[in-house]
Amino acid sequence: MQALDENILEKCRSAKRVVAITGAGISAESGIPTFRGKNGYWKSYRAEDLANFESFQKNPILVWEWYQMRMEICRKAEPNPGHLAIAKMESLYPEFHLITQNVDNLHPRAGSKNITELHGNIFTTRCTKCTYNSTLGSDSFPLPPICPNCNSILRPNILWFGESYDIKVLDDCIQKLRSADLLLIIGTSGQVTVPVYLAEEAIQSGAYSIEINLDRSTLSKKVNVHLQGSASEVLQLLMVK
Ligand code: NAD
Ligand code: ZN
Repeated sequence: MQALDENILEKCRSAKRVVAITGAGISAESGIPTFRGKNGYWKSYRAEDLANFESFQKNPILVWEWYQMRMEICRKAEPNPGHLAIAKMESLYPEFHLITQNVDNLHPRAGSKNITELHGNIFTTRCTKCTYNSTLGSDSFPLPPICPNCNSILRPNILWFGESYDIKVLDDCIQKLRSADLLLIIGTSGQVTVPVYLAEEAIQSGAYSIEINLDRSTLSKKVNVHLQGSASEVLQLLMVK
């Protein structure tokens, strides 16, 4: 990756209100497979065939086995320089907020505090009937796990395909995006509608927008600048404060 254009660096230097939106690509360098890359299958299943409530109802053990396998990968993975750069940015800018689509817990582990985990966190679970929810430790548990309050099945506390976002959470993100002067979009293919819509809120409100991705995405044409490269490498170049 060559040195970045001075105009881009100046936009990063002068920004005051920054929002970053991250996707699976930022965790790829930590060894966590993306859904749409070449390792996007488990057994013969696509993520879309497992990460939905109908599949869970039909075969909760199969879906839980997939989550247990992914939890194990996430537990063993370490935050990479891209996650660390994002965490550091919180202290460099007067306002900095991170919106992640990732569920892998690597941003919090890297130290990010101002964070919205749009799709949940793989280490949390909630009841399918009552309001019980909890964090999963590293101990193994029988499948499917059962709610200690009402004996119903517990599910991963993840937003699955076809499920609705929490409106309050979205509103809060939209406020921050509308007032952002710099938007960073990192490692997302832009195939999930809501994160794309959120990015567009900031772009339409006048934020300078920088995309970092190994490939082009559905957002590449809409941003001010598309930086082709790995998230960790490019983010370190953008740390100019
Ligand atoms: P995606 O799999 O659709 O796309 C990944 C994107 O990252 C691609 O555009 C790819 O070109 C890019 N990429 C890959 N390696 C990169 C690197 N080193 N640097 C920069 N870019 C890189 O991911 P998505 O857009 O986040 O959508 C997938 C959905 O699946 C999300 O909603 C997310 O919740 C979920 N998911 C999460 C994880 C995780 O928590 N780590 C992993 C897989 C999927
Ligand atoms: Zn319950």
